[in-house]
Amino acid sequence: MLTSVYLHFPWCLQKCPYCDFASATIRRAEVPHATYADALLCELEFRAGQQELGTLGSVFFGGGTPSLWDAAELGRVLHAIHAAFGAKLGSVEVTVECNPSSLDREKAAALREVGVNRASIGVQSLDDARLRFLGRLHDGEGALRSVRGAMLELPRVSADLMFGMPGQRAPDFLDEQSKLLELGLSHLSVYALTVEAQTQFGELHRKGKLTLAKEDDYADTFLATERALAERGFAHYEVSNYARPGETSIHNQHYWRGGDYLGLGAAAVGCRWSAAGCARRYRNDPNPARYMERCQSQAVEVFEETLDGQAIVREGLMLGLRTQEGVDVKEIEARAGVEVRTGRERELERALQSGNVLLQGDRLVVPHERWLHLDSIVADLF
Ligand code: SF4
Repeated sequence: MLTSVYLHFPWCLQKCPYCDFASATIRRAEVPHATYADALLCELEFRAGQQELGTLGSVFFGGGTPSLWDAAELGRVLHAIHAAFGAKLGSVEVTVECNPSSLDREKAAALREVGVNRASIGVQSLDDARLRFLGRLHDGEGALRSVRGAMLELPRVSADLMFGMPGQRAPDFLDEQSKLLELGLSHLSVYALTVEAQTQFGELHRKGKLTLAKEDDYADTFLATERALAERGFAHYEVSNYARPGETSIHNQHYWRGGDYLGLGAAAVGCRWSAAGCARRYRNDPNPARYMERCQSQAVEVFEETLDGQAIVREGLMLGLRTQEGVDVKEIEARAGVEVRTGRERELERALQSGNVLLQGDRLVVPHERWLHLDSIVADLF
């Protein structure tokens, strides 16, 4: 069984007003580098005793801002993960999510030295006014410097860009994209700004004090991005992700295919398979102090659920239909122990007849030209 590992680093220097990820603010000097690494090692030992780990597929340090973490401590955890799985360092994709304000060439080199081979950098924008609107700590020049530095030291670098901000039109966004791509990036994640209820933006939106891009601007930008990136040889391999050939994110693809993953760290989510039609999902305590106190036992979890066959199919469709490769029906049925069509015969038939979903061999796929309506197409299947 192939298992990917997700590690959550739960701190940021400042909370962005749109962010609903599990992250607490911390001063740079107060990050408990070694204590947090010790806690992760402790949880790793507990999880290894709980269930067989399987074969290591990929490692992803997400957050929060894992680039704030001392590279040596991150490396200590990375080595322990490889040792626990009996894997050789360098044998799998190891990604660290980074912010430009905590990633320069020197940091990228330190990460490479401990075994990291991919950075995913939260650039979000190259326009200083938009970066201020998003509450980011870097400016456009700083973001470009950070990406350049990372590309000199790490074999693979991806950047995140965000669209859908007030007044932002497709040409503005394409201009930002071009500046980034001129650096030679081969992977780009492109997200629309969404307003989550429990955030500062959510609060402003409720009070009518936040306007976002118009629906038409959103659609124009989405389509213009797809065209521009296709011209540069990028495949639109997931609704928010583009890559040159061979540069897709192995970790994310494993997740979108409904693979088994071990979550470690405060607020981390894991989903472990035990048999056909049975998986257990858990979520760790999001409070970093409590997590560090409880990391050695089941008490570290604040939530768990068992996924039955129907839930496995539902999630498989929700994640897989957002990708270019779609859903492998046979594979999902083998994992779920039930047929994909069971309980949604009419809905699936309707989607196939309207062309919203295609059956290509053993795969269900939403054609690219309908990706703008992906959310409603997928929702209609349930
Ligand atoms: S840096 Fe990332 S994780 Fe941290 S608050 Fe901002 S968006 Fe959230």
